[in-house]
Amino acid sequence: MSNKVRVRFAPSPTGGLHLGGVRTVLYNYLFARHHGGDFILRIEDTDSSRFVPGAEEYIMETLRWCGMEPDESPAVGGPCGPYRQSERKEGYREYADKLVAQGNAYYAFDTPEELEEMRSVFKTAENPSPQYDHRLRMKMRNSLTMGDDEVRRLLSEGMPYVIRIKMPDNETVSFTDMIRGEVSFNTSTVDDKVLLKNDGMPTYHLAVVVDDYLMNITHAFRGEEWLPSAPVHLLLWKYLGLQESMPQWAHLPLILKPDGNGKLSKRDGDRLGFPVFAMNWTDPRTTEFTQGFRERGFLPEAFVNMLAMLGWNDGSGQEIFSMQEL
Ligand code: GLU
Repeated sequence: MSNKVRVRFAPSPTGGLHLGGVRTVLYNYLFARHHGGDFILRIEDTDSSRFVPGAEEYIMETLRWCGMEPDESPAVGGPCGPYRQSERKEGYREYADKLVAQGNAYYAFDTPEELEEMRSVFKTAENPSPQYDHRLRMKMRNSLTMGDDEVRRLLSEGMPYVIRIKMPDNETVSFTDMIRGEVSFNTSTVDDKVLLKNDGMPTYHLAVVVDDYLMNITHAFRGEEWLPSAPVHLLLWKYLGLQESMPQWAHLPLILKPDGNGKLSKRDGDRLGFPVFAMNWTDPRTTEFTQGFRERGFLPEAFVNMLAMLGWNDGSGQEIFSMQEL
């Protein structure tokens, strides 16, 4: 792997780009510029059921308006990009297969009804929606509970299945986050996430690891809502034998509601007279319209400066920074 800094913004095209997302772009972009590295855009569109038409174009236009054009895109004379995971579908399978062959992942044949039934067996008042963990796993129809011949037969008959990671029952995994320092998890808090769906598409968890590896990503700035997924990703890097190439992660705090309870929503924005999007966005699913900063007449420089100042200050009292200064 080269030592050149390479970062990515990896949105799922599931709607308008929230302020917090643009702030994530800003951190990635500035880090790349500061280190003379590359900033790439990767569209994580493996979940077709959540795909929203127009979202990708909206994301690209927002980046353009903010002056944070990704490298390696035709807009800046680059050869390719944005990279789309749906166009790279074929490449992920071999990684899932390797994990199954090593015993770190398994085929799960259970139907949604069977799964629902088993969840109801394990359900308690404190835990109304039990995870697909080691207890449940041992009761279900999967390649850990069935004999090899049976598994081979089902596969040859074309029985639908997903591939799940086999999370260790009770292990501590840790990493050093660029913002939070040492972070540790007990693996029992995480369920056996699906890695490959029955349509052959990878889920976010598999695709993010494979692509960060194949795209030589050195640092990944992402929202802290992804922190609970970090143990799954850590284990995937380890099981695939790629740990040496794992990027350094920085989980950015979210932009919260005024009372600090959860992420700032469109509704909070409406109440405060504060858009939560950079540009106008109409959700095609609900035709709900949100006015953006651009259409309200804010200059992109002012918008970017505002995002940079959220939760950061260089101590000098300076309030207005150009992109160059940032
Ligand atoms: N596709 C994820 C998202 O929509 C990306 C998370 C990551 O950067 O790893 O935010």
